[in-house]
Amino acid sequence: MNATYILKPGELTLKGGNRQGFERILVQNLRKLLALRGLGGAEAQVQGAGGRFFVRCPPEAAPAAEDALDHLFGISGWARTRICEKTVESLFAACVAEGEEACGRGARSFKIEARRTDKSFPLDSYGICAGAGEAVREAVPGLLVEVHSPQALIQVEIRDRAYVYSMTQAGLRGLPVGTAGRGLLLLSGGIDSPAAGFKMASRGMGLDAVHFHAFPYTGEEARQKVIRLAGIVGAYTLGIRLWILGFTEVQRRIKAGGREEWATVMLRMAMMEAAEKLARRTGAKCLVTGDSLSQVASQTLENLSCAESLTQLPVLRPLIGTDKEEIVRLARSIGTYETSILPYEDCCVLFSPAHPVLRGGVDEARDLYRRLDLAGEIDRALAGAVVEKCGFTAPGAKAPV
Ligand code: ATP
Ligand code: MG
Repeated sequence: MNATYILKPGELTLKGGNRQGFERILVQNLRKLLALRGLGGAEAQVQGAGGRFFVRCPPEAAPAAEDALDHLFGISGWARTRICEKTVESLFAACVAEGEEACGRGARSFKIEARRTDKSFPLDSYGICAGAGEAVREAVPGLLVEVHSPQALIQVEIRDRAYVYSMTQAGLRGLPVGTAGRGLLLLSGGIDSPAAGFKMASRGMGLDAVHFHAFPYTGEEARQKVIRLAGIVGAYTLGIRLWILGFTEVQRRIKAGGREEWATVMLRMAMMEAAEKLARRTGAKCLVTGDSLSQVASQTLENLSCAESLTQLPVLRPLIGTDKEEIVRLARSIGTYETSILPYEDCCVLFSPAHPVLRGGVDEARDLYRRLDLAGEIDRALAGAVVEKCGFTAPGAKAPV
């Protein structure tokens, strides 16, 4: 029998009149995630009805379908559901089977919740809860009824068929990618910026990314590491186009400028200028960084102000108030951490000053930056940019030829 999954939408249920548009994009994204895993069209069907979404696929495709669901923003949870005939007998039997499974997972208490869309079913919701509850209690002595905080919540829905499930898998929540425009993520090889990209994607933002490298000071491994990170984040965002810009000359010029203590702030300003120019070409409407307030010298409030002082686009910093431990936890959960800690250098550490300015004044920063006259170098870096398509194939899958 086919595997059937039931999905519970998250925050998009609050969208009032716009809800349908959000749901349409959710379904579109789910179809794309499935197709990336070889479950396009006929192999997996996606349906939405009455505030629920369903995915059906052959049983052997279940692991791929579940992986797709684990990469979908906009759902608060999902479950593989039992489906049975709309008779009281088979419904109760399915509830007992669900109870046994919950008990096997270690649950000691349960509750039944029922929704009856098909009013012709002989029992109403109350009758289903009472009858199925009794059947489970008798058949599974390890489970006690607990209506307030049950360890297993067995849900019943009577629709075209009868569905029985426990919503055991947490969804990524947030909003479907593509409902909040497109941003350009400044992606280093570190822990923070991939996590920052994930956070913005969780609010529905599509992402492009830019990485600055300083060949030959930063090597091929560092470049590959960033491509891999973009692939991991891109698996949640239906792909990321990653622009890689050579910034060696920009950095040399900053060093030659002679104000060593300002080098990091100048580099940040140059990155912002290049990123803004790129964003205007690609249609991104904001810049996204992994800054977290006061984490390092370049991230004091003053230096952050300097960095963005010549930028017209909004600069979003979703991790600004998040401490490192929490960021590490997020990076682990999305799967970027192990790659981020690989020890290849980022271009920021090149020529980085022993005693950086901690609280740069914006006027002085702008003045110094203008005198460096970097526009030509930045344009050359943009003209030589290489673009990589990351995360457009499923993890572990072969890239299309
Ligand atoms: P991360 O872990 O993201 O590297 P970090 O704590 O190392 O962050 P910084 O090196 O100060 O912090 O960088 C701050 C932000 O600037 C990064 O989160 C990223 O958005 C951007 N950034 C830094 N280096 C690069 C780079 N080489 N290419 C693109 N963006 C960069
Ligand atoms: Mg870094």
